[in-house]
Amino acid sequence: MNINLAVIPGDGIGPEVTGEALNIIKAVAGRFSHNITFTEVMAGGAAIDLYGEPLPQETLDICKKSDSVVLGAVGGWQWDNLLGDKRPERALLGLRSGLGLYANLRPAVLHPALAAACPLREDIARKGIDIMVVRELTGGMYFGGRGRERIDMVEAAWDTELYSEEEVRRIAIRAFDTAMLRGKRVTNVDKANVLESSRLWREVVLSVAKDYPRVSLNHMYIDNASMQLVRDPSQFDVIVTTNMFGDILSDEASQITGSIGMLPSASLGASGFGMYEPIHGSAPDIAGRDLANPIAAILSAAMMFRYSFGLTEEADAIETAVTKTLEAGYRTADIYSDGMKRVGTKEMGALIQKEAAGVEQ
Ligand code: NAD
Repeated sequence: MNINLAVIPGDGIGPEVTGEALNIIKAVAGRFSHNITFTEVMAGGAAIDLYGEPLPQETLDICKKSDSVVLGAVGGWQWDNLLGDKRPERALLGLRSGLGLYANLRPAVLHPALAAACPLREDIARKGIDIMVVRELTGGMYFGGRGRERIDMVEAAWDTELYSEEEVRRIAIRAFDTAMLRGKRVTNVDKANVLESSRLWREVVLSVAKDYPRVSLNHMYIDNASMQLVRDPSQFDVIVTTNMFGDILSDEASQITGSIGMLPSASLGASGFGMYEPIHGSAPDIAGRDLANPIAAILSAAMMFRYSFGLTEEADAIETAVTKTLEAGYRTADIYSDGMKRVGTKEMGALIQKEAAGVEQ
């Protein structure tokens, strides 16, 4: 396969972890005979320093022309005094809307080797956690009408949760397609006992479900879902939900797995195009010190192979390489515990790369 990737290393630890992810993408491309070309572009603080804006038009244009985007992280103390549109993080919103990325996929997986990092009770953690939260990313209350006004002499404010049938249909399809690649179970999370928008949401999810007879579907109200997530996370496979509910649930789901340095994400648009990035930020406190855990960025590359290019074996090769490296006892500082072998960003990347390339160690 010929694949064109745009790469945005970004700021802080972004370039460090992205560098390791690219090494692994190259190793897998070599092993499975793919031809991958990389075009590096700038966004975030690095782009502000060079071009005076967080998302130069050229960056967006190159991303649009590519098959997918690999992103590190943006932001840092140097740019903290900038306002609104000038901030590095603004690049993320510009990329999501400019690239039409309406679906956010965030897996929350508890690696057995890291069970001790799980903040839940041991008997709960032992049952395993392997959840994919599919969050709608460009609609709902974060994008709906809003305002402030004085009502009866007091200040009041409002935001609107608005979803069209089409917006719900495309995210529901994405969730069911995702479930087909996994455990074939979808939990729809809404608040249909109270919200009209949730009632429409549920109707559309039910109608999409008819096209996926092999996927089982259940419904949960958001309050119950957030409780179930800490009571028994093993019951979930794919969770599909709105922008706001997904924002909250995906953070909760990721937290119960332990380290922020382990968790990848995918933001997907139409026809497979996606932007792949770790969920963590630019971690300026550890930048440039070979301390960052590159696994979230590396697992984001696995998601890219699986979700943008349908290359399951390649994705499996990366995920297995990560699992084997953890099982062999290698740990970066953020996931280190007594008796393990402590390694830096580069060594962790190299160990996973060797496994992913199929090279005997
Ligand atoms: P952060 O995720 O960068 O860091 C939070 C904590 O987790 C820090 O202690 C950091 O050292 C640690 N950490 C993060 N990633 C790690 C990794 N891979 N390995 C080991 N430890 C890791 O969040 P923050 O400190 O709130 O934000 C720092 C900057 O990043 C801010 O400018 C923020 O706006 C930006 N940010 C960017 C993104 C993004 O680019 N998608 C996301 C969140 C925050």
